[in-house]
Amino acid sequence: MERIGLEEAVERLIGVSAPIEETRQLALEDGLGRVLAQEYRAAFPQPPFNRSPLDGYALRAKDTAGASKDRPAVLKVIDKIMAGRVSEKTVLPGTAVRLMTGAPVPEGADCVVGQEDTDYGETCVRVYRELRVHENMVDAGEDYQAGTVLMEKGERIDAVAAGILAGAGIGEVKVYRRLRVALFTTGDEVAAPGESCEAGKIYDSNRYLLWGRLKELGIEPVCWEHIGDEAEMAAERIAALISEVDMVLTTGGVSVGEKDIMHDVVSILNGDRLFWRVALKPGSPVLAFRFQGKPVICLSGNPFGAFVTLEMLVRPVLAHMTREPRLAPVRRQARVKGGFHKRSNVRRFIRGSFMDGCVVLPEEGHASGVLFSMKGCNCLVDIPAGNEGLADGDEVVVWLLSCIV
Ligand code: AMP
Ligand code: MG
Repeated sequence: MERIGLEEAVERLIGVSAPIEETRQLALEDGLGRVLAQEYRAAFPQPPFNRSPLDGYALRAKDTAGASKDRPAVLKVIDKIMAGRVSEKTVLPGTAVRLMTGAPVPEGADCVVGQEDTDYGETCVRVYRELRVHENMVDAGEDYQAGTVLMEKGERIDAVAAGILAGAGIGEVKVYRRLRVALFTTGDEVAAPGESCEAGKIYDSNRYLLWGRLKELGIEPVCWEHIGDEAEMAAERIAALISEVDMVLTTGGVSVGEKDIMHDVVSILNGDRLFWRVALKPGSPVLAFRFQGKPVICLSGNPFGAFVTLEMLVRPVLAHMTREPRLAPVRRQARVKGGFHKRSNVRRFIRGSFMDGCVVLPEEGHASGVLFSMKGCNCLVDIPAGNEGLADGDEVVVWLLSCIV
């Protein structure tokens, strides 16, 4: 099978991956980070009433014409209201209502004077300056009018959205259900951290690396298991879980060795192979097939290879299925600091640290099995096929390892 390009591989996967249709009705506080399955409109203007932005007196501007410290306007105080209460009184000429910040401006009043411009009078108040109509009054609907679309279907509930929805009195939201992903690592040589590791074995980085990365992207795998290099067993676990998940991810066993079991898994499950091998480095032996209408994506076992293909190949598919465009990787233009001295026969991704338009490259530790040098890195540098090496000052494209939770 010919190697296909990364974009082609993403397209094939998207072609067999359906966006989530099922919805859930959740309390607003449980909806943070979720994607809305319906539009939300304002049932009333915000604020719902003309509001006083300070502690003072509501009055008629006309009554303060010519007022000054020496010649104050004297008004009769006919009521006193706190925020949360409504005055039954109408402010007629020569009267005022004492009110506190957040209280509705009563009928008849057309402005508010701050108490520091008065004598704080309780029954009668002296106003020491002239006021303009509308002064110190927040209009009903200053923020938005009734009927305004506050949130569109498909938008994500972040902190600001939660504040807007709550302000509109919306305590429950209809959202798409979460994506369900099963994650398997394979390999007889792989041991669980915390357990003993016999000679020749290594600990399972990938299970934590990919689980952690999925969580950083707002996706909690419904299961994350390790299975050995036994095709029958791997097929059995995938078959047992497929009806409960939307996607299966695996690592290891996709190359051309005797224990590269994932090829047999495709046959055992009678899956439709979508591709094997993508023209990129590292992680090129990635294999994908469709099983019971769902994508199964088998990444290379090398931790950095698995990571690169999760970012560049799997993330766009996650974005499509979750209807969350922010889940797709974000690109930036950057100037190289340092260098990378290898020729790239195929498109290659290396780790780097992006800041202020520059990307700093680690001096060493670029191999696909090396994870330690990834510490502190925040992007993947996209090196085109045929590149002879990167030198200080070269312009490159980088993909940010942003988190969305
Ligand atoms: P494979 O893709 O199975 O040929 O594995 C490629 C390399 O990655 C081998 O050196 C494996 O030992 C290593 N590897 C496979 N799975 C893991 C894992 N879960 N964690 C760390 N290294 C792994
Ligand atoms: Mg293996």
